[in-house]
Amino acid sequence: MPDPVLVPTTLVRPPSRTRQLTFVALGICLAALLASLAAVVINVTLASAVAPFAPTADEGHISEGSVVTLADDDVPAIARLDPALRDAMRRAEADAAAVGIAFQVTSGWRSEAYQRWLLADAIEQYGSEEVARQFVATPDRSRHVTGDAVDIVPLDAQLWLIENGSRHGICQTYANERWHFELATRPGGACPEMKADAAG
Ligand SMILES: [Zn+2]
Repeated sequence: MPDPVLVPTTLVRPPSRTRQLTFVALGICLAALLASLAAVVINVTLASAVAPFAPTADEGHISEGSVVTLADDDVPAIARLDPALRDAMRRAEADAAAVGIAFQVTSGWRSEAYQRWLLADAIEQYGSEEVARQFVATPDRSRHVTGDAVDIVPLDAQLWLIENGSRHGICQTYANERWHFELATRPGGACPEMKADAAG
């Protein structure tokens, strides 16, 4: 009679079962690898979703180094400004010219698409939407998208406008943007208190 203790076959897993488990484990590893590859592909696709849009002059872009003034009616960034702001800025510019100061416009009207691109770019630069919005307004809040703001250089023009712009109703409206001006009061009136930044 066989002694059952000498035949412990029930304690040994059949080899085919071990192989099955190995395949399952390999399958899980492969699935995890594919999932992480998919995540990389999705991230790259999302990142490049921002990149292909290149703002053009028709979107209101003024390329760095090009000299644009308030007289450039053929430039969309100037042509699509609110006429009241443009006229007030031109009167201010004529005043400033009397003391040898000239205005250059680095940004005026911008399309919604351009503003969205600027914000996406700022989020990438600052690594946070909250910080980015202190410098770039969302398209629905931007005064540039409605044609109600101009950014002016150089420094002497900015300082002149901060000091004298209100004679023509022109005011600096964000404390952190010395270059950004809007029609914000009546000619000769007092400028409203500035917002801290574009997010305010
Ligand atoms: Zn601005």
